[in-house]
Amino acid sequence: MSKEAKVALLQQKISQASTNRWIAYITAFVLTALIGFISGFLGFTEDFALIVGVVPFVVCIAIGSYYWIQKDQLMKELERMAIDYPKCPKCRKEIPKGDFMYCPFCSASLKGNSES
Ligand SMILES: [Zn+2]
Repeated sequence: MSKEAKVALLQQKISQASTNRWIAYITAFVLTALIGFISGFLGFTEDFALIVGVVPFVVCIAIGSYYWIQKDQLMKELERMAIDYPKCPKCRKEIPKGDFMYCPFCSASLKGNSES
């Protein structure tokens, strides 16, 4: 898989995780409101409604947080990929892994440019 494809896949996963996070959070509030409404409709006591409502709320918030953490990890992975493959400041080509003093494509100096 090329680096571009990997980056595109990561970005897709990040946006998916972000979407899933919001779906989970919105579901938490919708479910709670719905359970509150149904409880009122069926004449449940407030204590019972609270217990029944809290469980799905906590579960949805936990799922949302899981996606939040996943998004965070994917973002870090994306950052690592960017660091692993620095680009030549002159020709903008990706420098392969290794301690290069000069760009293997255009022989521009990499030290000093990248570390100052
Ligand atoms: Zn170069």
